[in-house]
Amino acid sequence: MTGIVEEFLALKEGTDADVLAMQVGDFYEFFAEDARLVADELDLKVSEKSSHGSSYPMAGVPLSELTPYLKSLVERGYTVAVAEQRGSDDTTREITRKATPGTLLEATGADARYLVSVVRDGDAWGLAAVDVTTGAFHVTEVTGERTALAELGRFDPEEVLPGPDVRDDEGVLDALREDTDATLTVHATDAFAPGRATHRVREQFGEGTLDAIGVAPEGAGARAAGAALDYVEETGVGVLASLTRVQAYEADDHVALDPTTRRNLELTGTMHGDRAGSLAATLDHTVTSMGARRLEAWLLRPVQDRAEVARRHDCVAALAGDALERDAVRETLDGAYDLERLAARATSGSADPAAIRRVADTLERLPALRERLASSPALADSPLKGILDRVDAEAAEDLRETVDDALADEPGGETGIFARGYDEELDRIAEEHDAVVAFFDSLAERVKAETELSRVTVDRNKTDGYYVQVGHSQTDRVPEHFREVKTLKNSKRYRTDELDEKERALVRLEEERAARERELFEALREEVAAHASLLQDAGRALAEVDALASFAEHASANRWARPELRDDRELDVVAGRHPVVEQTVEFVPNDARLTDDRRFLVVTGPNMSGKSTYMRQTALIVLLAQAGSFVPAESAELGLVDGIYTRVGALDELAQGRSTFMVEMQELSNILHSATEDSLVVLDEVGRGTASDDGISIAWAATEYLHNEVRAKTLFATHYHELTALADRLDGVRNVHVEVDERNDGESVTFLRTVAEGPADRSYGIHVADLAGVPDPVVSRSRDVLAKLRADEAIDVRGGATGGEETEQVVFDLGSGELRTGGGADADADATSGDATAMADADPDPGADASAGAEADGGRAGGEAALDADARAVLEEVRGVDINNTSPLELLQRVNEWQKRMSERDE
Ligand code: ADP
Ligand code: MG
Repeated sequence: MTGIVEEFLALKEGTDADVLAMQVGDFYEFFAEDARLVADELDLKVSEKSSHGSSYPMAGVPLSELTPYLKSLVERGYTVAVAEQRGSDDTTREITRKATPGTLLEATGADARYLVSVVRDGDAWGLAAVDVTTGAFHVTEVTGERTALAELGRFDPEEVLPGPDVRDDEGVLDALREDTDATLTVHATDAFAPGRATHRVREQFGEGTLDAIGVAPEGAGARAAGAALDYVEETGVGVLASLTRVQAYEADDHVALDPTTRRNLELTGTMHGDRAGSLAATLDHTVTSMGARRLEAWLLRPVQDRAEVARRHDCVAALAGDALERDAVRETLDGAYDLERLAARATSGSADPAAIRRVADTLERLPALRERLASSPALADSPLKGILDRVDAEAAEDLRETVDDALADEPGGETGIFARGYDEELDRIAEEHDAVVAFFDSLAERVKAETELSRVTVDRNKTDGYYVQVGHSQTDRVPEHFREVKTLKNSKRYRTDELDEKERALVRLEEERAARERELFEALREEVAAHASLLQDAGRALAEVDALASFAEHASANRWARPELRDDRELDVVAGRHPVVEQTVEFVPNDARLTDDRRFLVVTGPNMSGKSTYMRQTALIVLLAQAGSFVPAESAELGLVDGIYTRVGALDELAQGRSTFMVEMQELSNILHSATEDSLVVLDEVGRGTASDDGISIAWAATEYLHNEVRAKTLFATHYHELTALADRLDGVRNVHVEVDERNDGESVTFLRTVAEGPADRSYGIHVADLAGVPDPVVSRSRDVLAKLRADEAIDVRGGATGGEETEQVVFDLGSGELRTGGGADADADATSGDATAMADADPDPGADASAGAEADGGRAGGEAALDADARAVLEEVRGVDINNTSPLELLQRVNEWQKRMSERDE
């Protein structure tokens, strides 16, 4: 004979879930390690259960309270198997469900929750993305690993099912772990087999589905889709019926946005991972959770299709143009329930009467919304109307009526689930039932009226059932037919034959009523489930109107402009702003103009002047426009882009603990491979994560490649001032800079935030050095050196900071714009980038500099004289820092120490 614990352990043995919850009577119990795990994670109390001489930890939750525990466990990344008792024989238990991150039906909140299955077949990749909570099912096929991973990342999946070929590729698995927080689940290899998977898709969506949507049978897309269906079925959530329609799309439909770009642009979360402060959070004025989900999906998947972009702009324009109408539309939507999710709940059987009531209440919004749209000429003429036309109005109204006729106003309240008049049999039972209830309700009064008793109450309890209770002072007056059933301190309880009979009737009627209600409700729920695809259509339509109204609301509150779509590749933004930053600071607007012969802007300016903001705002304006939104600018003319690529230099990202120079270069490589002449590229301090000669060389070569070969529109912010010389060499490269005001001659630098033509003045670095407390002799000496360097034709850009190894000297010739290699193995001049490294330029190297020229050389000797031993020591240390092997924190600490030493010495 096996005990409970043994049964638990056997069931656990047979599942690959992390945790098992096993029903034991009115509880779900966890034993052994599982008990400890849930106790730790969920703060449950652990007790001991002994079985066959051993003792096991045990924790439990009541049956009705499993859902919240299940949710917390799954949200923490565990998979949980649930074993239920079958029938009355409580020793038969079987696993009926496996709750996993990608199939958690109980999920609340507006966010989509995707399970993505990914199949690789040579260079062809197939992706299938399912959201069981809404019934969304997308399939796509793409070429190449990069595109596949970018596409997958867009769904921000909770769970990924890598196919057999993907599981074998450590590189891809690493990338998946890096780019997503998804749980990686190994699902049966069979399920990915071409024949079986294709069959599975046809079974679910119909024979002709694959042809109809243009996905090749037995191809990577079909395999991914089949495996996803198989997995969803295996988890036992019972939602297959809500997956009514598979949508295929081409990756080309959307603007390419890789995971790094989504993060850099803070589309749905900030760099720190908060939703507040993200683009989505800033723009979200939706009034339904379907609408919020749609808005976010649009921001993550801007479209390339001009007609679709224009259609959304038309809708936003109509809604933005009339605040009263817009308010009315939003009010009509306000409080609408999540039809997509309700559909999934109806088909999975988990919808209760209140949920079905919500279906009707929400369907009611459709005709109301239609009327609203018709009542205003501007709205009626816009494509908004077409959105509602996609819903079968008659079928929706029929379903609403069916539900409305069936359910009570507040189903489950005193009056039961169903409205009177809906079902004759139920009405009859209810009438009799109500009569018996009324009998008991009025019994006390009747007894008082018919007898001489006044101290009478009627009540019921578990053991005695109904009884009439009479106070002791009156017990001698009770009628004969009262049978005494219990004596209490101050009273006695009685029953009568009539009471017996009524009570039997009551129990019978309660049961009959519940059974009939159950039967009717099951039929009603099935009726609603049969309309899952109608509900999804309706939900999508409401979501779309909500998202468009939200765009309009934001546009009108922040004076955004409708972008004008151009036929060429030009971009011309007048007085553009950053959509998120403008919410918190007095924002200085800036123009941006990119054309074929001005396609590459080198953006210079001191730290904190606004370079990154300027570039991001430009990228966001393009992204918003193609998401269908208006844009933060006075006006914007935009050619449509096929992709937006951004990369932030390793130092900035290093500070966030996210990146290494290697990653920076991998991402640069991705951009150089993926971008086209229709793309927008934003490079922010790329090449910074390495020594300056390396960095400049890489930045230089990448610029040439992007300009000559890729021809993408590019914004490149750099602190390598040398790159500004590219403008003279390459037709399409122009310099712009963010202006600062340093009139007070070094005492303060005022950031003007305006972007102007031409390269930045290079001396700001010296001002910053001055502000930072670098000793006066060094500051004035660096002004000298700078003046001399400027007078020179050739500037030595060899970086000497990376340590002892002797390298060949690279000479950057401003005149020809060429990097030449020179001889001087002993040369030791440092980088002359525009930043505070000017300080290092003044380094007096006793060893003669082979190529920097006699003047500079002489200057260096003078600099040496001006420095005392302490300052020299600090400079030596600054030069000795190996940036590649020093953490940002360590650097900070060292700079802090240097500043301290310098200021102590000044005193
Ligand atoms: P950089 O990249 O040049 O170091 P950032 O773009 O990070 O500078 O900008 C630094 C700060 O300046 C930002 O946090 C932002 O608050 C502010 N800022 C940038 N651009 C503007 C602007 N156009 N108007 C107002 N404030 C701005
Ligand atoms: Mg920056």
